[in-house]
Amino acid sequence: MSKEKKGGESVAKFYQVTESKIERTRRECPRCGKGVFMAVHKDRLTCGKCSYTEFQKDQTKKTKH
Ligand SMILES: [Zn+2]
Repeated sequence: MSKEKKGGESVAKFYQVTESKIERTRRECPRCGKGVFMAVHKDRLTCGKCSYTEFQKDQTKKTKH
């Protein structure tokens, strides 16, 4: 039988995952508003403009049930 490769589908899926990941990581500063992204650190986000800091919950550890 023929095995069809649906490359377009997997690419679209990969893109969607990547995009959401970026969106989650890159956050705009609530103080400075749109266009000002916060720097991502190990467990926190900081704004380079106003030094606003926001601590993150460990999103990397998802093995806990
Ligand atoms: Zn700021």
